[in-house]
Amino acid sequence: MTEKIYTITKKNLFDLFGRLSGTHRVIVPYEKGENFHFADFDPKKEDSIELGGIRQSQPLKSFINPPREGMLSVHNEGSKPVIIAGVKGCDLSSLMLQDFVFLQGDYEDPFYSKGRSGTMLIGNDCTYAKETCFCIAMDGAPYPKKYFDMNLSRMDDYFVVEAETDKGNSLISSFRMFFAKASRADIDKRQYNRDRVSAQIKDFINKRGTKNTSQIKDAVMKNYNLTALWQDFASTCVECGACNLACPTCHCFLLFDERSKENFKKRYRVWDACLYRTFARVAGGANPRKHLYERLRNRFEKKFDFFPKALNYFACTGCGRCIDACPGNIDLREVLKGLVDGKWNKPPND
Ligand code: SF4
Ligand code: SF4
Repeated sequence: MTEKIYTITKKNLFDLFGRLSGTHRVIVPYEKGENFHFADFDPKKEDSIELGGIRQSQPLKSFINPPREGMLSVHNEGSKPVIIAGVKGCDLSSLMLQDFVFLQGDYEDPFYSKGRSGTMLIGNDCTYAKETCFCIAMDGAPYPKKYFDMNLSRMDDYFVVEAETDKGNSLISSFRMFFAKASRADIDKRQYNRDRVSAQIKDFINKRGTKNTSQIKDAVMKNYNLTALWQDFASTCVECGACNLACPTCHCFLLFDERSKENFKKRYRVWDACLYRTFARVAGGANPRKHLYERLRNRFEKKFDFFPKALNYFACTGCGRCIDACPGNIDLREVLKGLVDGKWNKPPND
């Protein structure tokens, strides 16, 4: 069982990133205060690289399906393949939904497809949880379960490494001198850490979320026509769209053309947000969701009713980014709790 599991020291890992930077764009997580963010690997900033901690501020989609992308040509000659290291389980699970939208069915999106196939994903266990994390309630875990090529689980000053795909195995084979075989004690220690962080998340879910997670699927439609309830949920929303933009599973986009006075210049795809007033507006000005509560309800319907019925999974990975991002203090866990448990006790701002 341990034959395909390795260890690598921090120094060797950073040496490996340095070598790979010659042929790839290598993106790693940096720690700043209590937050983490992705940026290009810079050996001069090694001290602030953190391959542990919790999920980063940017969702993974930022790199595979960027917020603004030119649409005239899918070919970007000379661009290097990308390696993103430090991707958490909640971001990797979001690919299930993004892949469904952009790769499956009658049309494969060539831009997304290029970003997806040209990116190697190095997953990473969380070493603690934030109070807003609830991945376990969404059938996830604080460690990658799938969609990673290789995974790093931080121990004290080294990592347990597991390859999942041919890309991951080939990376290890090509740089075998950096890796050592993992021992049974390494694997047990990794499991101990995973159990510890999972227990922490379950504790957070019990405190702020609904305990009846099996009923989430029916909760939106059960309350769909209770307008007053949805108006209450939406009462502090300022329509900023931050919940949509921060979300790793939200995928809606808008096309717009840049023009000079006379001529078309370039077509772009930009992220859209279903909370925006104009999101569903059609030609002639009609708007099927002109009320804010309808737009908020639509978001919950898509995530917790439409996608579970269509694909049998939630369009939410429990990353908690929307909770952190919302200036209206709208907590998705509290909304779900209100819907499932049949009561809405909005907590005071804290
Ligand atoms: S809905 Fe919120 S918690 Fe769920 S995946 Fe999106 S940002 Fe994360
Ligand atoms: S982040 Fe909050 S305030 Fe902004 S659109 Fe979403 S629910 Fe509304």
